[in-house]
Amino acid sequence: MAWVTTEHPTRSELSACVQCGLCLPHCPTFRLTGKETASPRGRLSAMSAVQDGIVQVDRPFVEIIDFCLGCRACEPVCPGMVPYGRALEGTRAEIVAQRPSFSHRIRGFLLGPVLGSRMALGIGTVFLSLLQRLRLTRLVPGRFRRLTGGMRSLRGRPARVAGTSAGPKGGEVIGLLTGCVQDQWFRQTNEAAVALLTRAGYRVEAPSAQTCCGALAAHDGKAGQARRLAAKNVAAFGEVEHLVATAAGCSAHLAGYGHWADDGGAIAERSEDITVLIARAIEEGRLPRLPGGRGPIGVQDPCHLRHAQRVTAEPRAIVEAAGYEVVEIDPRGLCCGAAGLYTVLQPEASRELGNQKADQIRSTGVNKVATANPGCEMQMRSATDGDVQFAHPIEWYLDALAQSESAVTSSPVESSVD
Ligand code: SF4
Ligand code: SF4
Repeated sequence: MAWVTTEHPTRSELSACVQCGLCLPHCPTFRLTGKETASPRGRLSAMSAVQDGIVQVDRPFVEIIDFCLGCRACEPVCPGMVPYGRALEGTRAEIVAQRPSFSHRIRGFLLGPVLGSRMALGIGTVFLSLLQRLRLTRLVPGRFRRLTGGMRSLRGRPARVAGTSAGPKGGEVIGLLTGCVQDQWFRQTNEAAVALLTRAGYRVEAPSAQTCCGALAAHDGKAGQARRLAAKNVAAFGEVEHLVATAAGCSAHLAGYGHWADDGGAIAERSEDITVLIARAIEEGRLPRLPGGRGPIGVQDPCHLRHAQRVTAEPRAIVEAAGYEVVEIDPRGLCCGAAGLYTVLQPEASRELGNQKADQIRSTGVNKVATANPGCEMQMRSATDGDVQFAHPIEWYLDALAQSESAVTSSPVESSVD
């Protein structure tokens, strides 16, 4: 038995690998272990061996695939243009189909019905908020503690972003994917997006019929759940001229909707990461450049922004326009180890990569960092033990704008909680 689903990597996807090894030094798991089986080339060889019926989807194969972060750092450096992320998602769907486990069933429920339900997420968020209030997040079991320890404070959260913003009549309509976790735990980022887009002359529409983008389900091999969520979003955003997401993982997944939903290709073509749109508005003079002198700020590149979407200049342009001096944390852009569920499923490797990132941040001496992905923010906040302030580039910009205009007296930038 080779592959059993229609999701599997195709022969042409796998044969694009010419075994050159140029990807190896860019792969975090290869750098951690030095093992060929923990490299992109090794994993693609293993997939090809299954394709040819030489090996089965057995336990050693699953371990090779599970250890991959899905960071896609291997893609931009690959001369064969191997669509590694696609091959990985297809292979994980095969694992779910051929080796279903109790853990997969639980994850399938969490990544589909739970993330797709605002009510279920809201109940979970109230529970987490209570844990924070009672200072009990330290009692959360080990592999989940890194996650809860890196969350923003859930106290006094602003109202959910939904509906259509007031904006200039006749202005271009921008659909805002508010996300699942992003909507519940990082609402300040969505609020900053609405405030800045409106000021830039857009009308923002956040339809309440939207749902989780499905990225986490797709990355974990839950292809059916990912397709259901994508179809719902295609219906919700069908009419908007432009669509943005404020989490890099979500915007990267929207760009792949052509694979995940009928008519998803049109949405994919019209979607962008919020950093791209805001940087363009600053470039075009629709948002102001603020005076410098705010001091240094580190910029971290989320893998799904840097490697999957090849977006690096825009987050830097935004914090520069806010008056900060950009400090590079990691010119190689290695994964921080967050990688969706990786923190929970591969805690040791995730912790090691998180600690490496924390060391890089500390070595620069910055106490402010801009990151455009919620998972990265939580991982780095947890790894730096609350010594550093993290926020999305657009939050740093809105904060600076508000201060420079004395429009508000309090900062929207969140601090860490324990
Ligand atoms: S860089 Fe691309 S072609 Fe070369 S070994 Fe890695 S995946 Fe294969
Ligand atoms: S996705 Fe990341 S961890 Fe996986 S093979 Fe590519 S570079 Fe390595």
